[in-house]
Amino acid sequence: MACYFKPLMEKLQNYIDGKLIAPKSNEYFDNYDPASGKVYSLIPDSSIEDVALATAAAKRAFPIWSKMSIQERSDIMLKIASLIEERSEELAAAESRDNGKPLKLASTVDIPRAQANFHFYGTGILHWASESHSMGDLALNYTLREPIGVAGCISPWNLPLYLFSWKIAPALATGNTVVAKPSEVTPYTAYLLSKICIDAGLPDGVLNIVHGTGPKAGAAIIEHDDIPMISFTGGTTTGEWIARAAAPKFKKLSLELGGKNPNIIFADCDFEEMMKTTLRSSFANQGQICLCGSRILVERSIYDRFRTEFVSRVKDLKVGHPSEQVNLGAVVSKPHMEKILSYIEIAKTEGGTVLCGGERVKVAGHEEGYYLAPTVIEGLDQSCRTNQEEIFGPVVTIAPFDSEEEALEMANSTKYGLASSVWTSDLKRAHRVAKDIHAGICWVNCWLLRDLRTPFGGVKSSGVGREGGFEAFDFFTEPKNVCIRY
Ligand code: NAD
Repeated sequence: MACYFKPLMEKLQNYIDGKLIAPKSNEYFDNYDPASGKVYSLIPDSSIEDVALATAAAKRAFPIWSKMSIQERSDIMLKIASLIEERSEELAAAESRDNGKPLKLASTVDIPRAQANFHFYGTGILHWASESHSMGDLALNYTLREPIGVAGCISPWNLPLYLFSWKIAPALATGNTVVAKPSEVTPYTAYLLSKICIDAGLPDGVLNIVHGTGPKAGAAIIEHDDIPMISFTGGTTTGEWIARAAAPKFKKLSLELGGKNPNIIFADCDFEEMMKTTLRSSFANQGQICLCGSRILVERSIYDRFRTEFVSRVKDLKVGHPSEQVNLGAVVSKPHMEKILSYIEIAKTEGGTVLCGGERVKVAGHEEGYYLAPTVIEGLDQSCRTNQEEIFGPVVTIAPFDSEEEALEMANSTKYGLASSVWTSDLKRAHRVAKDIHAGICWVNCWLLRDLRTPFGGVKSSGVGREGGFEAFDFFTEPKNVCIRY
């Protein structure tokens, strides 16, 4: 808490070849504090030249890092994990300030998860093995899984250090070196991570962090010939561009993209448990989690009860400065706030009724901050834009359904397929719906309950490939079949 209000107007630096350095051009752009709407630091506007430097450093470090023993790599990663834990207060304050999310959320979710990512993959690599296939008396095949080289890792702004480290950690654990770019909207904790890596003794060039915009620094990573694999999390439109740019170069791609997740509520659910969790799955992180359930589908027999109770509890949610005890802080940026408000207008023109919220909130003392009231809309068909396009803010729609078939049809009606939730006490139905829903994750009677060993990713326009567990190790390594005749 203490450092939250510390006045800052510092220039962030790139982390290249083990050093903190300015971008070649010496150009910077503004970093805003969404809670106040004011600029508080400057971000390097890195270009193709900075990415080239970072990639060359990563290439030089690859033979050293990839040949280090697994135990040595693990030790350094665990040192990074313990430094994240040691500096968690500073990191949480920085994340909250950069992103607008409640400090409590950053302290209990974002930063512990960043620590866990390094710990999980730093220890996971000690337990990883590859397969062998015996051909009886004839021959033995074994699979060599080798690191590939320089990995490009690009992440979004909603869970900044959480998602940044979720990519970097498995890439490093498997012996690759990395050129990474955090979102230009929330670069600060990635900058703090570079200092942690220096203090942890990570060899020079193993991890390089280049700050800057997507079209400039990000595209330079995608297009660099010495970066053969890209792990990207962000919007579906950006993912489409990346897939097109990377295809002619035959790069290995993992794309974690947008979502428009259904939250299906059957009448036989545990109503109180569902209600508490649905408030979180709708509005946690101001609704800016790719896994938030933005389309709430409710069995008609409990629809009225649900609507009354839900709207009343949403009205009680506290919106305010992220350093205070609030349910919702600020959304991440002014353009994003305007985008969300424009979708609320679209919902109205489509015939939706705004049951609560729908407008900007002025927080006393922080009038220029980007605060929005949690918004519930009803009366819309699933085919309209409000229900088909990702809004990625504190906005949900509610709609009734009459049967399991209809619920599934509504749930599966978008181009997305990232996450889903189902609330029911009928075990058979839970299994049926989980099987037939088009999504990479189906939570039954819960939400955001994550086991890091499980595969994570989406279907349809929500992405290609899986992160999580050993799936990430598979992505960051190339399998080679070695066949030995006896
Ligand atoms: P975005 O696509 O605008 O940006 C993501 C990252 O890509 C940023 O670092 C950005 O600088 C970079 N980028 C932008 N254009 C680029 C280009 N041409 N080449 C290379 N890099 C480029 O997304 P965002 O607005 O930062 O994040 C929100 C989106 O992320 C939402 O759609 C959300 O659903 C999605 N998301 C998905 C997951 C998931 O796991 N599937 C998790 C979190 C967020």
